[in-house]
Amino acid sequence: MARADHSLAPVALTRRPLDRHGELRGDPALLTDRLADPATRVLHLRGDTAPVTEGPEGTTRVRLRAPTATDADHLVVYLGEADGTHYLGVVEDLPEGAEPAPEERTLRQVGASLDDVGAALFVTTLALANWHRTHRFCPRCGGRTVPVLAGWVRRCPADGSDHYPRTDVAVIMAVVDDDDRLLLARGRGFRSGGMSVLAGFVEPGETLAAAVVREVGEEVGVEVEEVTYLGDQPWPFPSSLMVGFRARARSTALRLQEDEIAAARWFTRDELAAAVADGSLVIPGRVSIARRLLEHWYGGRLQAPDVSTMR
Ligand SMILES: [Zn+2]
Repeated sequence: MARADHSLAPVALTRRPLDRHGELRGDPALLTDRLADPATRVLHLRGDTAPVTEGPEGTTRVRLRAPTATDADHLVVYLGEADGTHYLGVVEDLPEGAEPAPEERTLRQVGASLDDVGAALFVTTLALANWHRTHRFCPRCGGRTVPVLAGWVRRCPADGSDHYPRTDVAVIMAVVDDDDRLLLARGRGFRSGGMSVLAGFVEPGETLAAAVVREVGEEVGVEVEEVTYLGDQPWPFPSSLMVGFRARARSTALRLQEDEIAAARWFTRDELAAAVADGSLVIPGRVSIARRLLEHWYGGRLQAPDVSTMR
């Protein structure tokens, strides 16, 4: 991997405004003390939505509240502290098909416009909630596990084993040819007209750069080199870390992996801008690192209707 190029524009969901205070999580009284303190601020996640206030000029703030008597009935996680304020996430599971309240939004909907603290609280609570929801049982003995360490570990009371939150690492890459054209592809699950840069999960035993080379080879039959790290982004839908790269194509002929890729083509900057402007091409929303990679190659912001739910 070549040295990082720091010119990728700020990626949503990546600021670190909170001190997570990992050293406090082992205190068995941490959650009860924080729940008893009216100065604590709570992000209440219902399903995958949180209440927000949408202000003027596209700014959005997560609506936080003081703890309530019923919070302890739900999963509670300690998120951290900023400027002397401690933050908790309270996770309420909703029945299948339940509708969000009018003031609630998903992280995909508001992630690009959230304030830094709000984004950190929302992304961390959602990532932990998604993990807790799917790891209720011990992988060793099948027994029911319980949350410990302020929501950052699940423990099996039967055999004492501890289980940590998982993050699934994916690579996402802007592939550019010798004529400085960008490769975009439409996955099978994309909306009509939607295209993005290629991405795929890292496999066990593989480096990040090797995953970039393999994924591009598998999906479009192109050999790439000069794999360069550009930035990364937590992407808790449900539990990914997207690691962004640029890579240079050694060839341009495309051979699509038909069960995954519906279409792919090379774009010049003029072709891309024209297709975005006339609506024939729908690019990923501003919340995503995919959009940042695309604009990094393009050399500026692309004006497009914000579509934050491509898949
Ligand atoms: Zn067990």
